[in-house]
Amino acid sequence: MSTMQERDPDTIVIGAGVVGLSTALYLLQAGRTVTVIDPLGPAGGASFGNAGMLSPDTAVPIALPGMLRQVPRWLADPLGPLVVRPAHLPRAAPWLTRWVMAGRPSRVLAISDALRALHRRSFTCWQELLGPACYHDLVRPVGSAQIWEGDAKSAAAALERQVRERHGIRAEPLGPDDLRQMFPGISRDVRNGLLVPGNGFTVNPQRIVAALAERFLSEGGEIAGERAMKLIPAGAGTGFMVMTNLANRSAAQVVVAAGAWSGELIAPLGLRVPLETERGYHAMLPAPNIAPPMPISNKSRGFGLTPMEQGIRVAGTVEIAGLTAPPDERRAAILVQHAKRLFPGLEHGAPSFWMGFRPSTPDSLPVLGVAPGRSGLFLAFGHGHFGMTGGPPSGQLMAALITGRTPEIDPAPYAPTRFGR
Ligand SMILES: Cc1cc2nc3c(=O)[nH]c(=O)nc-3n(C[C@H](O)[C@H](O)[C@H](O)COP(=O)(O)OP(=O)(O)OC[C@H]3O[C@@H](n4cnc5c(N)ncnc54)[C@H](O)[C@@H]3O)c2cc1C
Repeated sequence: MSTMQERDPDTIVIGAGVVGLSTALYLLQAGRTVTVIDPLGPAGGASFGNAGMLSPDTAVPIALPGMLRQVPRWLADPLGPLVVRPAHLPRAAPWLTRWVMAGRPSRVLAISDALRALHRRSFTCWQELLGPACYHDLVRPVGSAQIWEGDAKSAAAALERQVRERHGIRAEPLGPDDLRQMFPGISRDVRNGLLVPGNGFTVNPQRIVAALAERFLSEGGEIAGERAMKLIPAGAGTGFMVMTNLANRSAAQVVVAAGAWSGELIAPLGLRVPLETERGYHAMLPAPNIAPPMPISNKSRGFGLTPMEQGIRVAGTVEIAGLTAPPDERRAAILVQHAKRLFPGLEHGAPSFWMGFRPSTPDSLPVLGVAPGRSGLFLAFGHGHFGMTGGPPSGQLMAALITGRTPEIDPAPYAPTRFGR
């Protein structure tokens, strides 16, 4: 998998998900030598099985006003759209508290500004990283649809409209006739929808991240199949040694882009960032008899349905249960039921199930920048629900910060210091 570099690279990137590989490729293109290390290789984490929605025109954080009222329901229904496993509650409580606080209306608008600044560059950055041919093969900038069951829109709909107006995001209401024309076979229970023409999707999240890795290798980067076990400062600002399960590797700069596992890598250095994993599931339906032209987000039930190369992917839901508890496959199976409720005539072949770990901060914004008090150590994680969208622009920002160039966007809202030191 690797092309061998004889000398220490300028930069080691830990993690070969969308965020690590975007950062690595932008750094390589800025003239740096770069090694990426990951025991699973490209797209072995959350970047493998997500819903593939690329959403430059989505700027609404996950925590929204009124969430506190929902807590009892989250604890009671193991198959609901959002569940906290009781055994993990004591550990997750401080993060959940911050999460609820991030849902205050005043914070939501500030967070949406920062999400918008990052996300609006998504298609541009994907195209820069992949090159035009690969981009057109894998990306469909054709819009996305949100739908609601019954007549009621979610309580957050008014706030979402406010966010769209604030950022000049175009959206077109969809009535029952529009919905049935765009999505033949959709349930008559769906009477309300919204088309967001500026969004889109990838037809294969795993293949698009593998394409980043291929380009990185072909341009001289190195990928090593190793697990970082400890980050050891080399002393007097001369970089870091990364002890892996197979080697000792050194570089002037190290980037931690290990997704949901990033927190445990930096904790021994005394660095604490509130990072929880919002576990999500997918069910892949290999032989569907429907072909929606774009992804559909079901806002009433908290899942998405995306047309992909290998069939229809039904993905979503949130389970707060930490990094080690086994998956609850019932949560993936229920996604199949949701898809059938949405398209009552759906036939699909034998589904396959997957679970992945969203790396989530309480304020829905990633952590991007130099680690406090640790020059040479850079943090790039915490993209939560939006990493396929925000990963490439984050890589561009990280490369600018690491090489000392002026970044395209203001890095302040993503600063690792924003939660305190
Ligand atoms: C069900 C679901 C649906 C989603 N849908 C969407 C969507 O539609 N649109 C969107 O934009 N986002 C979506 N997301 C979110 C998106 O998938 C993530 O935000 C994104 O993949 C995170 O990328 P990452 O590179 O930070 O982490 P990951 O892809 O998890 O990569 C982290 C990598 O670090 C490696 N690693 C960990 N520890 C070490 C170590 N010690 N040493 C070396 N390597 C290590 C892991 O092996 C892994 O490969 C979804 C997520 C889920 C779970």
